[in-house]
Amino acid sequence: MSLPIYLIGARGCGKTTVGHALALALDYAFRDTDHFLQQSTQQTVADIVAAEGWEGFRRRETQSLVAVTASSTVVATGGGMVLAEENRQFMREQGQVIYLQADAEVLAARLEAYPEEAQRPTLTGRPIADEMVEVLKQRDQLYHQAAHHVINAMQSPEQVVQQMLQVLSLARAS
Ligand code: ADP
Ligand code: MG
Repeated sequence: MSLPIYLIGARGCGKTTVGHALALALDYAFRDTDHFLQQSTQQTVADIVAAEGWEGFRRRETQSLVAVTASSTVVATGGGMVLAEENRQFMREQGQVIYLQADAEVLAARLEAYPEEAQRPTLTGRPIADEMVEVLKQRDQLYHQAAHHVINAMQSPEQVVQQMLQVLSLARAS
């Protein structure tokens, strides 16, 4: 049985993009906790936050993580998944956790280039570049804590996938 692979990192680091590619390369299923949440509730993230607050959103996020977890599956997680100790522990116990690391400027540039993919309400109401700096200051340590492997996500998607395959095969051989 092949353990699930969890991709963690801030919004824009490439979890959906390279997660799809990794799943194809491994012949795994691909799941995305944000998509699962939206499909199961028939609401956007913005709707859920407006109705239930971030606290309600986080609770549903934890449920989504458990729901999509299965063998031979690549799971792209919401950027805030690591905030809960419960989620970090769950991912580490269930499978291999990969942190896709990118600098705040790179993340902000990607999100500004594709605003339609950034439909989530900002956490602070400030410009996206400032917000990314704040978000990483708060979360970088948690991403590191949760991860078995850290990959530089500022490379091309192809290079990111190659490196993920490399660290995963090393993990399997040992
Ligand atoms: P996430 O799911 O982590 O929020 P996405 O996969 O949606 O991130 O990527 C956010 C944006 O950045 C998308 O427009 C995507 O095409 C782009 N992107 C993702 N990975 C890379 C990469 N390695 N290099 C350049 N652009 C990327
Ligand atoms: Mg995504």
